[in-house]
This record gives sequence, C-alpha cells and structure tokens, in this order.
Amino acid sequence: MPATIANGDAPELAFHNIVDGKPRSSDVKEQVIDPRTEEVGWDVPVASAQDLDDAVDAARRAFKTWRFVSHDEREKILQSVADCLRTNKDVLAQAHMKETGKSFIMASADVEVAALHYEYYKGMTLEDDVQYEDAEVKIVGTYVPIGVTAAISPWNFPLILSSVKVASALATGNCVIIKPSPFTPYAILKFCELVQSVLPPGVFQALHGGADLGERMTLHRGIDQISFTGTVAVGQHILQNCTKTMKKVILEMAGNDAAIICEDADLGKVIPSVAHGCFFHAGQVCVASKRIYVHESLYDKFMELFIEEAKKWSPNNILFAPLSNRPNFERAKSILEDSKKNNHDIVLGGEVKNDEKGFWLPPTIIAKPPEESRIVQEEQFAPITPVMIWSDEDDVIARANLENSGLGASLYTPDLDKARRIAQRLESGSVWINRFERPHFGAYFAGWKLSGFGGELGKRGLYDYCQVQCLHFHK
Ligand code: NAD
Repeated sequence: MPATIANGDAPELAFHNIVDGKPRSSDVKEQVIDPRTEEVGWDVPVASAQDLDDAVDAARRAFKTWRFVSHDEREKILQSVADCLRTNKDVLAQAHMKETGKSFIMASADVEVAALHYEYYKGMTLEDDVQYEDAEVKIVGTYVPIGVTAAISPWNFPLILSSVKVASALATGNCVIIKPSPFTPYAILKFCELVQSVLPPGVFQALHGGADLGERMTLHRGIDQISFTGTVAVGQHILQNCTKTMKKVILEMAGNDAAIICEDADLGKVIPSVAHGCFFHAGQVCVASKRIYVHESLYDKFMELFIEEAKKWSPNNILFAPLSNRPNFERAKSILEDSKKNNHDIVLGGEVKNDEKGFWLPPTIIAKPPEESRIVQEEQFAPITPVMIWSDEDDVIARANLENSGLGASLYTPDLDKARRIAQRLESGSVWINRFERPHFGAYFAGWKLSGFGGELGKRGLYDYCQVQCLHFHK
C-alpha cells in the first residue's frame, strides 16, 4: 500500500450538519472507513428528521430573496464560493482523500475542478425568448428558479458531482440542500461550513445521512426538485417517490460504456487512452470504459500492448485508487468470482490479497468473455475490463447498445465521417471520439434509457434547474 501517496498529515477535524447558516451536531454519530487503510475516520453527525424540516424551512425563507439577487451580485458570490474552495484546498483535499481513497494530488484536483464549476456558471444567464408574436400578443418564455432543490450525490466524485448540483442551483436562483453519500460526507460538510461566510443563511445547506434521509427528502412537501446522481435502482425508486408530490427530477444514473476500436485506429495513441478510461480511479467513474470492442484485425496486437499498459496502473500510480468502500469492493469481487467460476480467460490481475489492509483490486483484463456474462452486462465500477472482438459494424453497434449503456461511449478511428456515422447509432448521451470518456463542464451531460433523464453541465444544464414561465403580453 503506497503510504507516501496517501498520507497528507490530516489535522483533527470536526464535522457538522449545516442548517440555516449554522453548524449542528447530533447525538447519533457515524464514521467513515478509510479505503486505503481501513482505519476509522472522524465522527460525523447523522441528521434527524427535525434537521431536515428545519433546513427546508430555512431554504424556503432564503428563497424569497435569493431568487431575486441581481446578476452582478450573484456573480460575485459564486466567485467567492470558488475562492473559498481554493483557499481551503489542503484541508478539503485531506478530508477528501480519507473518505474516497484518492491520492492527495487527485483529491486536490477534485477541489480545483469543483471550483471551476462555480466560475463557469457565475456569469451565466438564461435569456428570455419570444415564443410567439403578432399584432395582438407577444409571448415571452422566461426561466425562473424552481425553489428548493435537494441534491443527492454518490461517493465516487463527491465534491465535483455535488458542486455541479450546487453551482447549477445557485446560479439559477434556487436554494439547495445537499445530502452526500454516507460513505463520503467529510469534504462536502466541511466545504458547506466554510462557505457560509459568503452566502446568506439557508441558501446552501448540507445534511449527512443515508437512504432513510434521502427517502425523506424525496417525499418532503417543502422540496421542489430532486437532483440525483447514483445507481439505476435508487434512481428508479426516487422517481416513483417524486410522483407523489410531482417534484421535478434530474436523474444522472449509471452507465455501461462501450469503447469501440476500429480497424484503422492507431494503437500507439489508443492504448494509453483506453487504459486511462478503464483504470483511472480504479474504474469508479460513471463513464469509465467498461467494455472494450476491438476490431478483429487489431485484437492480438491490442491485447499485447494493453496488458503492458495496464500494469502501469498499480497502487503507486497517483491516478489509481482502492475501491472506495466495502460494499463496492465486495460487489466487484463477486463479479470477478463469477468470471472465475465460468472459466473466463483472465489474462492480467484477478487476484485479491486478502491479508492486506485496504480495498485494493489490481487492474484485471478478461479476454473474450461471452456477451451475456455479468462482466459484460453489468456495470462493474472496478478495474476489471472485458475485451471482445468485432468484425461487422452493425453487429458491434447492436452489442454496444445495451439497455444500461445510455450514459456514454467512446470510439477510436482517424476517419471522422465514420466516427460520426457510428456515433449517431449509439444510444448514449455522450460519445467521445479518439479519447476516453470524460465529461466537460461546457457540455450537457445526460443519460439515455436506464441511465436517466434530465441532465447537467453546459448552459443547457441550467435549464433543468428552472421552470419555464410563459408571459402572454396582450398589447
Ligand atoms: P447509490 O444509488 O447507492 O447512492 C447515491 C445516493 O443516493 C447516496 O447519497 C445514497 O445515500 C442515496 N440513496 C440511497 N437510497 C436512497 C433512497 N431510497 N432515497 C433517496 N436517496 C437514496 O449510488 P452510489 O453507489 O453512491 O454511486 C455509484 C453509482 O453512481 C454508480 O452506478 C455510478 O455509475 C453512478 N454515477 C452516475 C453518474 C452520472 O453522472 N450519471 C456520476 C457518478 C456516479
């Protein structure tokens, strides 16, 4: 276990829920397990039903004025939020690495990327649009905030994914209550506490808790919108809950991305990119390259080079990581066991050292597992990569288009016309051409099929945090 990567000297930290601008403790406390060492972390208070009610009341009060804050003032405030992240980068990164298993450098990068989202959105406005006009009437579409957003986020990129939600909500005049994953509350609670100095009370609040708190949020009458990122099963359940009060919903759910390597691809460029797509953060990325389809003419050479490249993704690589928590570790091991039981050809990795501390799984490559196997059909969310062969374009597109593949895909060919032709037949919200999958803050990011609906990022993402109100001006 690479201690030098892991150990920033973390200070003693105290964590609180943040309600109406103030820190709150609780009689009930939990701790997070450090995925690198399995050491027990700092106490974090579990929010009660009363804390949620109080936070909702505070948000509703704050909304009355926050929604009308001027563009210039809002811009200054969002810049101050970004500055707050940067000023406190070290402490936030130290908290973040303890809960996620990321290296200090990766955790620091997450703080910086989170800050960029506030800067990106700070000056953005959604202009009115004239929807119809004649001699008698002019109809103008306006984009108004929805009210109180509850943001429910996962554990793989907690600070970044929460910041997308918080920045989008604040930029559009909504108030937001964040519930981070119970596996990763530290950096978000600390950030929310620190940033209160630049925000009016009740505008941005944070509550720690698990499924029961999330459940209460999705049923709460004082919450107008749920912005969720996580698994398909939980997203589907949230959608059902939200019908009871007809809340607006954004669902950013899991994917099972296919990476398609065409016969004309340059393997020298492709191999490092595909390996990054598979093994960055140990594959715990919603748009990791989760299934690789290599044209038959390149398969043997690809495998030879890919296995060598994958060996660089050891625990000493600052971009690699352990699995972030025990449930994900156990789930990944069960997928691996399934492959072993079915005699799949494991050409790299596959061994878990049970006598070592930490939730480590080595980069693992499985050659040509059957299409119907778990490792192909399920999202593995781990550094286990199946590599399959293709020869017919229609066939590979059909295999890529699984029900759960609606989030992303990648495609490698120097022929950009061909890339567009194939991409247009892939049923995924984003397709990356000649690069591994990575969302960009300027591009709308939205799932298709089981990967959800609604979306975030880019200017388009802000519309999903608004209600369209049409003003009919009769002349
Ligand atoms: P999860 O669905 O288990 O949990 C996500 C959040 O939902 C957590 O905060 C959790 O406490 C909360 N939750 C759980 N049950 C709930 C309920 N009944 N009601 C309300 N909230 C509830 O997901 P996870 O394991 O934290 O995250 C990993 C998953 O997230 C992967 O499948 C990954 O692909 C997906 N993901 C998607 C995106 C995207 O943008 N589409 C980004 C990152 C991760």
